[in-house]
Amino acid sequence: MTPELQEKLNSCPNLPSPPTIALKIIELANDPDADFKHIIQLLNCDPALASKILRIANSPVYPYGKKVGNLHQAMMVIGLNATISLALSFSLVHSLQTTKGTGLDHTLFWKRALMAGTACQVLGNTCKVAEKEELYLAGLLQDLGMLALDQVFPDLYAAHAGPQSDHESVILYEQESLGLTHGAIGSWLLAQWNLPERLRIAVTGSDDPSRVPAQDDRARFAYCVSLSGKIAEIFLRETDDEYLQMVKIQASLLLQLTPEILMEALETIKERFADTERIFETDLQSWDDPQTILESARASLLTRNLQTLKEVEELKMDTINIEAQFHNLQEAYRHDPLTGTLTRAYLDTYLQTSFEQAIANEECLTLIFGDLDKFKSVNDTYGHQAGDAVLRSSAELLLQKIRGTDRVGRYGGEEFVLILPKAQRQTAEMVCERILNAFRETTHEISPEANITVTISLGIATHTPENPYSHIADLLHHADEAGYYSKTHGGNQYTHYYFMKTEQPA
Ligand code: GH3
Ligand code: MG
Ligand code: MG
Repeated sequence: MTPELQEKLNSCPNLPSPPTIALKIIELANDPDADFKHIIQLLNCDPALASKILRIANSPVYPYGKKVGNLHQAMMVIGLNATISLALSFSLVHSLQTTKGTGLDHTLFWKRALMAGTACQVLGNTCKVAEKEELYLAGLLQDLGMLALDQVFPDLYAAHAGPQSDHESVILYEQESLGLTHGAIGSWLLAQWNLPERLRIAVTGSDDPSRVPAQDDRARFAYCVSLSGKIAEIFLRETDDEYLQMVKIQASLLLQLTPEILMEALETIKERFADTERIFETDLQSWDDPQTILESARASLLTRNLQTLKEVEELKMDTINIEAQFHNLQEAYRHDPLTGTLTRAYLDTYLQTSFEQAIANEECLTLIFGDLDKFKSVNDTYGHQAGDAVLRSSAELLLQKIRGTDRVGRYGGEEFVLILPKAQRQTAEMVCERILNAFRETTHEISPEANITVTISLGIATHTPENPYSHIADLLHHADEAGYYSKTHGGNQYTHYYFMKTEQPA
């Protein structure tokens, strides 16, 4: 998210927010000591909410056999955590329905949310995802980001040319207009509300399941959510054959559902709409007959070559994986895993580019060579792991003391090189003062018993248009020599190569 958008969101007075009761439920959800008594007390404060819980306990989702007459029985049927998730769903949906914007089609938005929530619950059952009530909540809230964006940019959705019921086109439009999609915003909001990470991952992945880390055990949860939105759309607009095929392929790739099982799930979802309507007192099925929709879905199952389409989709997934692998490799090449600074290999490239740029623009370029003092004794006294921790925090100190355009690289074990484009000698000396002081004032907590301080020796060399270097290697060598001078004169100080060659610093 860009800082500008973050700022806009932070300062927007009408961002959707949970009501007091939902906040209390979230508190209970995060409280390991919460029990039936607490949630019943809370539900009793809100009769509308309590009656929704009773209605769901009496719905076919929980085939209990007898009529559930009170909250206590309802909780026995549904279970504690499930009741908390459901209560949260009901109270959030109730309060968010009062958020009104300008461009967003709110009726459509809520139909989609309720249908997707229902679809999520059924998919959870089909795929044996244990947290089906939390899935319901995730399904309901997956497009929450749209409510927020509609508040922050009142003209955004009004200016979208396509129909809002075509979710894919809405997502593309958001990406083009804002550089991100509502999944990211929704996930950000959920984090503000202190809701569990599983929900946030699912909401981020709802726009694009490839964003969900596949190895993660929360992936199936997130895939149910992503698929639920696509399923809702089957009932929301006149989708074509190709769309139905895409849903089947995703169901197969993400959740290993065969087309037949998916069709069964669609039937169940359709049946459950009636319960959802009753619980939320809304009307979901007014304009399209789900029976016809399902019949056409079943027919299309026979007409297409599923295998070919599946291969195309698998290829798409492969490309996504290759891109991710490339990104990881590039990251490993560029950044040292221990300290996060540039690796030696990438540092060499970066030094050369910075040097060429300085020459081309007739600018200064300063290098600072840093070597931790007596670092071996940290390892010898406290062990290698402690040494690693000190290296990490030392790198952090260096990173904190430079400008955004400067870089730090790890030259060797406990040796760092700082690259300061456009910096003259005086600037470099100021930076060195700051670094030396930061090291002197920082205690590294190695264990509850041991806090230590480490110091660093620094050497500076500067290329200027007046005193130019021909090779970056010479500039680096001079910074190293100046650093060695600092080291042999007691460490914990800096030296500029320029002074070494003219007069020695005091
Ligand atoms: P001087 O003040 O002369 O610089 O002494 P020094 O002990 O800092 O320098 P020396 O070059 O003798 O030792 C550097 C030590 O840094 C030795 C090595 O074990 C340690 N070191 C190098 N890389 C790592 C690392 O990744 N992790 C840890 N924990 N130690 C490392
Ligand atoms: Mg060294
Ligand atoms: Mg050293």
